[in-house]
Amino acid sequence: MNKELTRSGPSKDALAYVEWLKEDDRFSDLLVQISPAINGHAFPKLKLQNKPSLVQYEGGISHLPLLDPPMRAKPLEPSEWKRKLNDLTDGDEASTSGRSCILLDVRNGFEWDVGHFRGAPRPEVDCFRNTSFGLSDEKEAPSDPLINVDKEKTDILMYCTGGIRCDVYSAVLRQRGFKNLYTLKGGVSHYLKEEGTAEWVGNLFVFDSRLSLPPATYGNNAVDEARETPVTPVDTSFARCYICDSQIQELRHRNCANLDCNRLFLCCAECIVHLKGCCCSNCITAPRLRPVLQGVKRYEKWHVYRDSEVQNAPLI
Ligand SMILES: [Zn+2]
Ligand SMILES: [Zn+2]
Repeated sequence: MNKELTRSGPSKDALAYVEWLKEDDRFSDLLVQISPAINGHAFPKLKLQNKPSLVQYEGGISHLPLLDPPMRAKPLEPSEWKRKLNDLTDGDEASTSGRSCILLDVRNGFEWDVGHFRGAPRPEVDCFRNTSFGLSDEKEAPSDPLINVDKEKTDILMYCTGGIRCDVYSAVLRQRGFKNLYTLKGGVSHYLKEEGTAEWVGNLFVFDSRLSLPPATYGNNAVDEARETPVTPVDTSFARCYICDSQIQELRHRNCANLDCNRLFLCCAECIVHLKGCCCSNCITAPRLRPVLQGVKRYEKWHVYRDSEVQNAPLI
């Protein structure tokens, strides 16, 4: 578990590689997820890294019982997950069994901002290692959805992008005595492929230069559809500017122009101008300020801006 390989290439080659890999018994049950690179290569540079752990968690994860089956959450197939969410929306389960159910987004707040399952509260964290649902008391974290819940009678449905963060966090909650933990097998990307957008709203945030992908790109025909831009309109009515809270249409983050902040945030056109591409008024006066990011581009390395500043400096 907790092994992940992310790879980008022409679809024919990528699929041939998957077939080759699956011929090896060790990888025969590999869960494969495919999504298109919308503007050219998703990973233009080859980077090989041996990371002892894909996810970082406060205090480390080596002490967590990640390989102990009873300590793990029950993974639900996308169809079962959808059924559970329907029950949650209808309130059927709660009324018939006296049980309650909580939907938990185990990602970062900025990921929730571009898309999430309906009914999932926004997680107030900007980094998985600080995730702390169910670990504090009411005074420390009044907005924690797991405060004061009955650990025996509450079903907790956890989801993240690909399932790995839930694997880790469910072990944390199990150690804290939460009995009924469920995770979405293969995460949201697998769900969108199997069930489409049922109960999902917006896009899916991804941790590479694409940043945000419409759900249609995960469909069963995703590779073929990648040649054309998916046409399914995405509901953006929930999306808000981080600065002024006005509604925005484009589900795409930008980085704060202050290199030393670099916060990912959604921003309306007026606030981009007003704050010079920064996330707050403090960042405008920071020393390592980059120019306003134009369009959907990402920032380049700092030396590009630093050097251009030196070149443009008046000669003495
Ligand atoms: Zn705004
Ligand atoms: Zn900032």
